[in-house]
Amino acid sequence: MNIHEYQSKQILKSYGVKVPEGLPAFSVEEAVENAKKLGTPVCVVKAQIHAGGRGKAGGVKVAKSLDEVKTYASEILGKVLVTHQTGPEGKKVNRLLIEAGADIKKEYYLSFVIDRNTARVVMMASTEGGMEIEKVAAETPEKIFKETIDPAVGLLPFQTSRMAYKLGLPKEAVRPAQKLMGCLYNAFVGKDCSLAEINPMVLTGDNDVMALDAKLNFDDSALFRHPDIVELRDETEEDPKELEAAAADLNYVNLGGDVACMVNGAGLAMATVDIIKYFGGEPANFLDVGGDSNPEKIAKAFNIMLEGGQSKGIFVNIFGGINRCDQVAQGILEAAKIISPDGKSLPVPVVVRLEGTNAQQGREILKNTPIENVIMAPTMEGGAETIVKLVKEAQA
Ligand code: ADP
Ligand code: MG
Repeated sequence: MNIHEYQSKQILKSYGVKVPEGLPAFSVEEAVENAKKLGTPVCVVKAQIHAGGRGKAGGVKVAKSLDEVKTYASEILGKVLVTHQTGPEGKKVNRLLIEAGADIKKEYYLSFVIDRNTARVVMMASTEGGMEIEKVAAETPEKIFKETIDPAVGLLPFQTSRMAYKLGLPKEAVRPAQKLMGCLYNAFVGKDCSLAEINPMVLTGDNDVMALDAKLNFDDSALFRHPDIVELRDETEEDPKELEAAAADLNYVNLGGDVACMVNGAGLAMATVDIIKYFGGEPANFLDVGGDSNPEKIAKAFNIMLEGGQSKGIFVNIFGGINRCDQVAQGILEAAKIISPDGKSLPVPVVVRLEGTNAQQGREILKNTPIENVIMAPTMEGGAETIVKLVKEAQA
C-alpha cells in the first residue's frame, strides 16, 4: 500500500526524522491559508499523488509570496500530472502540500528496502540525490552505497557513520545524518514498510540534514497490524479495477496490456503472463482466482477483465486442484449470460485450457455451449499462442 508524501512525513516526524513544516491543502484557499500559517518567506507548493517525478513535471513550485502560492496552487490542483512514474495516462492532483522552503546546499538519496537475495533490510544512499535515481542506478551503480542490516542487532552506529563519510558530508552534518538514518530505519521496521525512500535528503545552509521528500510503501500482508496506516488509504489513487477485484476476493493486478488472463494459483498466473509475453503479446493483467472459484466469482473476474474495453482477448488457464474445472466452465457460461444478452458470443475471444480435477467434464460443458467465440486449447503453450494470434488479428 502507498500513501502520500505529507502522510509519510507525518509518520517519519513521529519517529524523529527532521522534515520541513508543512500542511496539506485540498483547495486553493486552503493552500493560501496554510502558507499564511507557516509564515515563511519562501514556501513550496507540492502536488500530492502516489508517484514521484513531480518536480520535473511541474508539480513542485517554489513560491515567494502569497500571490505566487495562489497562482501555483490553482495551476497544480486538478491538473493531470504525467511523470516518469505515472505512465502516459498521468494522475490527477486532488491534494497539495504547502511546505516551508528549505535552504538546500546539496541533495542526497537515502532509502531502506528489503534485499531478497540476502533476505535483509538494506540501507542505500547516494550523493546523486534529487530527481533521477533510476538513472544513477542504471548508469553508475557504483555511486550508490549500501549497508546490509543484521535483523538481530539492527542498524548499527558504525554503519551510519560509514555511510555519512562515504557521502562526504561535512563534519557538523555527520551526527544529524546518522540520527536521520536511524530514525528512518526505526520507522521502516516499526510500520512494516517494504520501502522507505528520502529523495532528496538535503544538507542545509547551516549544515543540518533533513528529508525534503518522503515515500513509504507498506507490506500489505502486515497491514492488519497497522489500522492507523490503513486509514490513510486514498482510493482515488488506486486502480478502480484492482479495488473492485480486491472486494471480490480476487488477486488482480492491472498490467496495462490487452491479453487478459484468468488463472488459478499465483505461480501459474506468473507463468501465464510470461508465456503470453513469450509469444509476443502484452498481458492485460495478473489474475489469480484462487482455489474456491464458484461460478459467480468467475463471472465477476470476467466483468473486471472486460471493463473499459482494455482486454481484446482472454486466456483462461486453469489447473484444477481444489477448484474444479467443471465449476470454472460453468462460471464462463454464467459470465457469458451476464455480459452478452443473447448468450451466444462474448465481446472478445476466450481461449480455455482446462487440466486437472474434472477437466473432462469442464471441456464437455464448454464444447456444448452456444457461445461461438470460446475456443478450447489442449495445452498451455498452444492456448497462449492462439490468444496472442487472435488479439493481434483483432487489431489488424
Ligand atoms: P519528486 O521526487 O516527485 O520530483 P520532490 O519532493 O523530491 O518531488 O521535489 C522535487 C525537488 O523540489 C527536490 O529535489 C527539491 O530540489 C525541491 N523541493 C522539494 N521540496 C522542497 C522544499 N520544502 N524546499 C525547497 N525545495 C524543495
Ligand atoms: Mg523526490
